[in-house]
Amino acid sequence: MTSSLPPTRVGVIGVGHLGQHHARLLSELPRSRLVGVFDTNRNRAERIAKKTRSRAFGSLESLLADTSAVVVATPTETHFSVARQALEANRDVLVEKPITPSLDEASRLVQLASEKGRLLQVGHVERFNGAVLAAREWVENPRFVEVHRLSPFPDRSTDIGVILDVMIHDIDILLSLVHSSVESIDAIGTAVLTEKEDIANARLRFASGCVANITASRISYQTMRKIRIFEPDRYISIDYHKQDAVIYRKKDPDKPLSRPEEIERVTPRIRKTEPLRLELEAFLAACRGERPRAATGEEARSALQLALEIGNRIRTDTALRANETR
Ligand code: NAD
Repeated sequence: MTSSLPPTRVGVIGVGHLGQHHARLLSELPRSRLVGVFDTNRNRAERIAKKTRSRAFGSLESLLADTSAVVVATPTETHFSVARQALEANRDVLVEKPITPSLDEASRLVQLASEKGRLLQVGHVERFNGAVLAAREWVENPRFVEVHRLSPFPDRSTDIGVILDVMIHDIDILLSLVHSSVESIDAIGTAVLTEKEDIANARLRFASGCVANITASRISYQTMRKIRIFEPDRYISIDYHKQDAVIYRKKDPDKPLSRPEEIERVTPRIRKTEPLRLELEAFLAACRGERPRAATGEEARSALQLALEIGNRIRTDTALRANETR
């Protein structure tokens, strides 16, 4: 359904590394009118406002007064206070991931959005990766999932560990594919170059019997972002980085395989566009009541909960091992 509503008046709060791209895209999308930006770094706000032909607001309050929806792309520890202020002002909110650093804050935002009847979407941008959107339709009954998200050492976001920084993307995708609760977690991780974990691995067992093995590293030589899903009659491979997907499946799922020719290779049609653009289009469409909500606050809270449990498991096991060697 399309609407004849005027463009939604939006603002971006925090226009650093990622927020500048939200501002750029919102200044281009036909369904949005980027009114302006707010950043505690005034020079930065003015620079991005100029680039996007919008206004640099001097305060959060003044930006909220002039908009109906906002994107919050400030550092994670500020998500709660900024998003709360926006929701209290009755604005629809897209807050970057992770929703908040703590579960309690995430629950309070979800509750507030519900009380206010406002949209709370979270920046789990891999949901909008063309390869994920195309391959998702082939996922029916995952039995084993292997995930690798490896990257060279970044110059930012090292205030949080690799689990909350990047593994949370895969946790969110995994929960959206395996519709089952997590029954057990085995995890290992370690700090190598920072104070927080720089590499982590978790093995999750779901009530459905599915097992997922997720590795995230920010100290790797090369970049790799892949998720591979194994099912009784098919194998689905998604490359988030290249936005590619391929499916191999038995031509006849009911017959035991006797020759390699009985395997079919399917390459789904992929709309290779900026996932952030699709994320913002989905946000605007949901704000306007044209599409169901995606990457909701509730879903982001579930991803955060699992990410925190993985981190806790690593810390508990590390402490136990340290005690044993004393
Ligand atoms: P950044 O440090 O580059 O930018 C943050 C900006 O917010 C800065 O310009 C800073 O001056 C401003 N700021 C700080 N406190 C503020 C406040 N209270 N009000 C207004 N402005 C404020 O950080 P970044 O790398 O852009 O990350 C921002 C958020 O986006 C983080 O939560 C991060 O986890 C998330 N992120 C998500 C993805 C993704 O793939 N979805 C990728 C990168 C970052």
